[in-house]
Amino acid sequence: MKKNLIIAIDGYSSTGKSSMSKIIAKKLNYTHVDSGAMYRAVTWYALQNNSASQGQLNEERLIAQLPNIHISFIKNPTTLRNETYLNDVNVEDNIRSLEVSSMVSPVSVIPAVRDFCVNLQQQMGTNGGIVMDGRDIGTTVFPNAEIKIFVVASAQIRAQRRFLEYQQNGKDIAFEDVLKNVEERDYIDSHRAYSPLRKADDAIEVDNSELDLNQTVDKVMEIIHQKMGA
Ligand code: C5P
Repeated sequence: MKKNLIIAIDGYSSTGKSSMSKIIAKKLNYTHVDSGAMYRAVTWYALQNNSASQGQLNEERLIAQLPNIHISFIKNPTTLRNETYLNDVNVEDNIRSLEVSSMVSPVSVIPAVRDFCVNLQQQMGTNGGIVMDGRDIGTTVFPNAEIKIFVVASAQIRAQRRFLEYQQNGKDIAFEDVLKNVEERDYIDSHRAYSPLRKADDAIEVDNSELDLNQTVDKVMEIIHQKMGA
């Protein structure tokens, strides 16, 4: 297999994009970048620094604060997973909360926030050898990516997966709230004017409603090998 490719994995929330991307990157000895973690880190910053609270977003304030935001990923030596750091503080757990999930899509609509994150993502992909997952990786961030996958699954199934994750982490959140969040994010992500979630014309769609993580990885790896003629 040719080295240094860019593999873009886009799709709806809770389709398991990050989990599959992580495994695929490991198999290929590539770097995995979870672009959603960047939008989540910006959202966490906004919640901590009074540019978002109780469902209200102060866009102007957040835009003015962007130069104070430094996001990096550092591999945890025990789990070997990339964890998200905001201004040198590990925020991996904070950014996965429902509070952040409820605010992240409105934050991601702001063009200045998108430019900020897209810039960082493009820098990370300069040398290729990367699997990046998100919403606009194959359309905006890396329109020339060699391989583009678009993952879909029904909202009910995606909410069920997220709900189980919360339960496993001891978080007591009603299924209806999780489903509502999934549906709201789908709507905002795919209807925003600037860089909306959509399948790139040359992306291959994978519906994993009926597939588990390993089966999805196998399917995507098959596509990668076919595409690369390997
Ligand atoms: O992937 P994840 O669900 O963690 O992403 C959180 C949110 O970040 C998405 O719902 C979306 O609003 C935003 N996002 C985005 N563009 C990306 C990745 C994520 O707008 N490339």
